[in-house]
Amino acid sequence: MPSARPVAAPAAAARPARLLLSVEALCLIVALFWLASANLGFLRAAMAASGGFGLATLPLAVGLCGVVFALHALLLLLLATRRTLKPLLWLLLPVAAATSWFAGQFGVLMDPGMVRNVLRTDTAEARELLSPALLVHLALFAGLPLLLLSRVELRARGWGRALRQRALALLAVVVVLIGALLAVFQPLSSLMRNHKGLRYQITPANAVWSTGSVLAQQLRGAARPREAIGLDARPGPSWATAPRPRVLVLVVGETARAANWGLNGYTRQTTPELAALPVINFGAVQSCGTHTEVSLPCMFAPVGRRDYDEDRIRGQQSLLHVLARAGVGVDWRDNQSGCKGVCEGLPATTVTAQDFPAACEGGRCLDEALFADLGQRLDAAQGTQIWVLHMLGNHGPSYFRRYPPGFETWQPACASDDLRQCSTAQITKAYDNALRYTDHLLAGAIRQLQSRAGRVDSALIYVSDHGESLGEMNLYLHGVPYAMAPREQRQVPMVFWRSSGFEQGAGLKPACLEPTLRRHAQIGDVRHDHLFHTVLGLLDVRTALHEPDWDLTHGCRDATATAGPAPGPAGLASAPAAGTGR
Ligand SMILES: [Zn+2]
Repeated sequence: MPSARPVAAPAAAARPARLLLSVEALCLIVALFWLASANLGFLRAAMAASGGFGLATLPLAVGLCGVVFALHALLLLLLATRRTLKPLLWLLLPVAAATSWFAGQFGVLMDPGMVRNVLRTDTAEARELLSPALLVHLALFAGLPLLLLSRVELRARGWGRALRQRALALLAVVVVLIGALLAVFQPLSSLMRNHKGLRYQITPANAVWSTGSVLAQQLRGAARPREAIGLDARPGPSWATAPRPRVLVLVVGETARAANWGLNGYTRQTTPELAALPVINFGAVQSCGTHTEVSLPCMFAPVGRRDYDEDRIRGQQSLLHVLARAGVGVDWRDNQSGCKGVCEGLPATTVTAQDFPAACEGGRCLDEALFADLGQRLDAAQGTQIWVLHMLGNHGPSYFRRYPPGFETWQPACASDDLRQCSTAQITKAYDNALRYTDHLLAGAIRQLQSRAGRVDSALIYVSDHGESLGEMNLYLHGVPYAMAPREQRQVPMVFWRSSGFEQGAGLKPACLEPTLRRHAQIGDVRHDHLFHTVLGLLDVRTALHEPDWDLTHGCRDATATAGPAPGPAGLASAPAAGTGR
């Protein structure tokens, strides 16, 4: 029987030239490539934070290059075998290219929260982020290297030799890493301490580390159910005497920033309809996070940013579970990426194109779909209810897709998914038009509540989840780690309105709520942290979790009525009262 060998030889000769490399050599080459192609933004930011690039900071720059190179070389050398290296690079080269592009274009950093955002991105959102410029970048920094990679042949060798070479390569890389760290330890440690977000710019180590930490957290979370909180929650005395059904409409906005809110004194009147209504506007409210994945769970938690603990927040039930336990009818309606666990196990629906064909296009729906049946719902309302409406709001980068044509108040507005095609002025116009549309929807909802004030006692809170950068400091979109985020991403608008009978129905002292809330608005001390306790206060739900100092209605309930929960197993309200109050 003829062997295959004589046939294979001529075929191999006909193949285009292949590059023969050891696994270690390829690891080092790729680490160098990442240093030069994906980490220039990190190096620029680090040098800027260290007083700029100059003769005095040259050693730091060299040391940083050494650290970045050695980190990635170490990562690859620890994970790679002759069989796994190529698949690993097929994954990491595109990740590195995409991560560096979004960091360079929008200042988006790949921390665990951002990884969570990416993992939960739906096709409609992904489509809006894909631009020709991104595709060109991916072709250059991922496609081309992958083409070269396909020409590389990894050298086969015996186990003993492979181990020796790997040990040698690891030793060399560790020496470079330690040497670089020692050489610039002083400036580097203060740099990393004072600019915590910098570490999330080291690409693609940022994506690997953040993905690992998210997966580990999810495994831990999946192992145990959410901890029940507020087991002692019960209706307050006003429930028995309320003359009418009571509804709190909680509108969770998206990416609306305080700076562009007309009611806050912005140069454009983006909120003319709300301005004509008797609403209380809270000015610049401190958000809990800079993206939805962080902000949303945090807004509905008993302790938010003031003693931030992501594991605790994700491991526990939310405000909505506490309200439901007391008998409040809870309903979550979503026009975005879901409730991030806040409404887990509770009634929740998502706006779909099937239900609202006129308001939906390309997998995305205009926010009017959220409000479409508000009137009918009010007509049928019974008991005490909270209806959460989760808007798509000002979700970027395609602000121009967030409002119907009739709301193009400021022109010419950026009409591209790729923000680089537009001037900052055009981008801001599209953003402001979307805010104007939100203003219209909120005012419309309030007018509906007003018109039914004789049947339902109602209140409406609108608060955005986080802000947005529109080119300040060359940043766009949002998601900069909280500690280093600019105020445009951390300050959000918040508005409150209630019907004429609401205070009486809720058992609040007459003529107290308005001046109390206005005082907070004037001081400007309102944060997302207030939401949990204020909603408990407005709906008169009693639980030991309630911290009066964080309830904006505090002082508007009779002293006898504000006494916490009935004596008994207070420990059932399980969350530790970690807040310091204010
Ligand atoms: Zn958001």
